[in-house]
Amino acid sequence: MALSPRGTLNLETLDGSDPDSALPLDGEQWPPPCEILLDPEVEHSPDVILVGSSELSSPPSPGPRRDLIAYEVKVNQRDIEDVCICCGSLQVHTQHPLFEGGMCAPCKDKFLECLFLYDDDGYQSYCSICCAGETLLICENPDCTRCYCFECVDTLVGPGTSEKVHAMSNWVCFLCLPFPRSGLLQRRRKWRSGLKAFYDREAESPLEMYKTVPVWKREPIRVLSLFGNIKKELMSLGFLEDGSKLGRLKHLDDVTNVVRRDVDEWGPFDLTYGSTPALGHTCDHPPGWYVYQFHRILQYARPKPGSPQPFFWMFVDNLVLTEEDLDVATRFLETDPVTIQDVRGRTVQNAVHVWSNIPAVKSRHSALVSQEELFLLAQDRQRMKPPDQGPATLVKNCFLPLREYFKYFSTELTSSL
Ligand SMILES: [Zn+2]
Ligand SMILES: [Zn+2]
Ligand SMILES: [Zn+2]
Repeated sequence: MALSPRGTLNLETLDGSDPDSALPLDGEQWPPPCEILLDPEVEHSPDVILVGSSELSSPPSPGPRRDLIAYEVKVNQRDIEDVCICCGSLQVHTQHPLFEGGMCAPCKDKFLECLFLYDDDGYQSYCSICCAGETLLICENPDCTRCYCFECVDTLVGPGTSEKVHAMSNWVCFLCLPFPRSGLLQRRRKWRSGLKAFYDREAESPLEMYKTVPVWKREPIRVLSLFGNIKKELMSLGFLEDGSKLGRLKHLDDVTNVVRRDVDEWGPFDLTYGSTPALGHTCDHPPGWYVYQFHRILQYARPKPGSPQPFFWMFVDNLVLTEEDLDVATRFLETDPVTIQDVRGRTVQNAVHVWSNIPAVKSRHSALVSQEELFLLAQDRQRMKPPDQGPATLVKNCFLPLREYFKYFSTELTSSL
């Protein structure tokens, strides 16, 4: 079965050749066997290893014990809804949206943050149960993008399960299996609405989250692309295909004369994308014009208020907007921008500002670059040749969460186009 190594929390630094060695260590396995201790990296950071099995923000001693979840439920007859299935804490704040069981406040925050984060390989970046990122087991149902960590599978399904799953040639996950229960892990009925309700209740974001769509109901995406064209990126992610079996895209460079009736005729649309023009393009309008026009056309393309139909939008600024334009965009689009950047080595090659209601765009935010650096970068680019990666390339992976809503065909995902 395929494994998906993740770059966070450094469990892979445990001499990665054998995936077993990357198993999060539970109480019984601690201290680790001495051959692991020989690894100098591990020796100097034993606390890093424990991160996956304890809460970051909880008091250090003695901490919740995940290995006690089974004991609490089976022997102490504790209701699993009263235990955090992510970390074993008994300080339950809410219910886990996907599986029966509780969730403590720190795990809830982590879950919200990681809910829609995807890696370049097209799979979710973190475990669907605990949202930790180590070496993950990935679901081989082509319509599913979920991953599970070894520890969750062993703690909640049964000791040794991760090993069995690993040995299987075609494993589908606990949300895709025909039966709802595996050990202590019981899928919630109607987990898709549960996920939306969870988000609406717990997230501080003012943006609405749409209920994710089951595979058999997913339709090809219909895209309106203004000024910049997102076609190449959406094609590479499998959302669009020549021959129009999948998705369609309408691209407009100039929208000056477009009225509501035009958009109604061309639509309906599921995604409206717009960007300020790429550098090096001649443009006949001041940068602020693109914000106003995007906002105007977006109002035409939106479904009626209160419609349950998932509708997404994204506006990307290629660092050409003035400070004032940025404020206008934030006011009009009713959400703060995030900065997404292309960093090679220690140098920021390119960066964009992104406003969007696509889930997880916020979580991709990277705070490495200061406003001053962005200003200098924007100035530099007036003098230099345009970066080889256009703005659309930088935001490409932000579209991956749309796989939970629209049809796509499997495609070779690569980090470069
Ligand atoms: Zn927890
Ligand atoms: Zn997990
Ligand atoms: Zn699955």
